[in-house]
Amino acid sequence: MSFAHVAVIGLGLLGGSIGLAVQEHLKGIATSGYDSDPEVRRRARERGLVQQVHEDPADAVRGADLVILCVPVGAMGFAASAIAPGLRADALVSDVGSSKQSISRALAEALPHHCVIPAHPVAGTEDSGPDAGFATLFHQRWCIVTPPDGADPARVAALVSFWEDLGALVETMEPGHHDMVLAVTSHIPHLIAYTIVGTASDLEQVTRSEVIKFSAGGFRDFTRIAASDPTMWRDVFLHNREAVLEMLDRFLTDLALMREAIRAGDGETMFDLFTKTRAIRRSIVALGQDDARPDFGRKDHG
Ligand code: NAP
Repeated sequence: MSFAHVAVIGLGLLGGSIGLAVQEHLKGIATSGYDSDPEVRRRARERGLVQQVHEDPADAVRGADLVILCVPVGAMGFAASAIAPGLRADALVSDVGSSKQSISRALAEALPHHCVIPAHPVAGTEDSGPDAGFATLFHQRWCIVTPPDGADPARVAALVSFWEDLGALVETMEPGHHDMVLAVTSHIPHLIAYTIVGTASDLEQVTRSEVIKFSAGGFRDFTRIAASDPTMWRDVFLHNREAVLEMLDRFLTDLALMREAIRAGDGETMFDLFTKTRAIRRSIVALGQDDARPDFGRKDHG
C-alpha cells in the first residue's frame, strides 16, 4: 500500500522538509499543506514546500490519504480537530512530534474514528520556520514509529515504507518507551545546554564577551543546542514531564557523584567515566549518526 496524496499541517522545518523530500523522492505523489501563520504560507508557496498551500486546514487535507501534523507538540490536538471536517474516512493521520504519549492521547481524542499512527523523525537542526527545511533532512536519520495497540499492521508497514522512501532508518516502539529514550538522548541534553548557556550569561566574575571569545572550550557546542526553537522545547518539557523528571533525577545523582569525585580528588572515578563516554561517542560515529569533524558550521543534528 502506498500513498497518492500527502498533506502536511505546519510548514516549518519539519513540515517543509517532508514536503520537499516527498517531491524529490516520491515523484507522482500529490502534496498539499497549511500553516496557521499567513507569512509562513506565503514563504511556503514561494519555496514550493508543497504543491498546494491552502488557506484553511480542512481544505489542505481534502483528498489526502496520508496527513502528517508538523506543529509544536502543544498544538497537535488543536491541529487535529481543525483538519477533521476535511479528512477522508480512510486517511492515515500521523505526526512528527518529539514526545509520543501525550500526542497519541491528544490525537486519539481529537480523531476517534480515524486511523492515527504517531511517529517521530529524530532529525532536525537548531533552525526553524519555512526557510529552514531541506529535502535531505531525513537521510540516514532514525524515524521512530509508535503504533497504538491494535493498529493495522498493513497501515504501520505503509508508514514505515513512506519514511524509508524519504531516506530514513525506521524503528517501531511503544510510546512510553520512546519518551524515556528521548528524555535521555535529547530532552535532558537540551535542558543542560539551555541551563549552562543561561548560567554563563549570568556570571559576574566572567564577562559575557569572555564567554563568547573563549567559547571553543566546549561552550560553543552547547550554544548550538541552546539556540533551538523556544516554543518547540517549552512544549517538549510540558508534555514529556514524567520521563524527563525520572531521567533528570538519575542525572542529578550522577552529577552529585562527579562533584564528590572532584571534591575528593578521586581521579580514578573521573578517568573511568570519561573513558566510558569516549567509547559511546566513537560508537555513534561508527554507526554513521555523526562524523568526527569538528561541528563548526555543520547543521545536521536532531
Ligand atoms: P517550526 O519550524 O516552528 O514549524 C512549526 C509550524 O507550525 C510553524 O510555522 C507554526 O506557526 C505552525 N503552527 C503552529 N500551530 C499550528 C496549527 N494549529 N496549525 C497549523 N500550523 C501551526 O517547528 P519544527 O521544528 O518544524 O517542529 C514541528 C514539530 O516537529 C514539533 O512537534 C517538534 O517537536 C517536532 N520535531 C522537531 C525537530 C527539530 O529539530 N526542530 C526534530 C524532530 C521533531 P507559528 O510559528 O506561527 O506558531
